[in-house]
Amino acid sequence: MEFPFIPMKPYFTEKELEVYKKKLLDKKKELEQGLNKFAEKDPNLKGDYDTRYPDFGASQSVDEEALEVASYESSLSLEHNLELRLQDLEQALKRIKKGTYGKCQQKDCDGYIRKERLEIYPEAKFCMRCLPEKSKHTEI
Ligand SMILES: [Zn+2]
Repeated sequence: MEFPFIPMKPYFTEKELEVYKKKLLDKKKELEQGLNKFAEKDPNLKGDYDTRYPDFGASQSVDEEALEVASYESSLSLEHNLELRLQDLEQALKRIKKGTYGKCQQKDCDGYIRKERLEIYPEAKFCMRCLPEKSKHTEI
């Protein structure tokens, strides 16, 4: 008997799950190290910015000021980005624990993420069908 419309659940062996888990933990460690470096580089980024900001104007040109703001914003967005990626990794680790790893996280989707993608993006959340259009060229 066949069920052609039901997506086939990928079969993960204990060993495979261990491999994904290790990949996730390695990535997590790497990200945390990245974030730490970030924090060391400028531990009081926000406070520093707040105190310096009112001094702008008299001594700095508008261009210089804009540059400062841009660099502050790009640092913030980098930090934010790293934090989001860290969350994705943590959620994927939770899914391994819960036994839902590999399942598409889109509500109402019962699809699964291909193993070849999980090999590269062990934190992948969506199947190809649900993947947001803009991330399609960054993910496979
Ligand atoms: Zn999906």
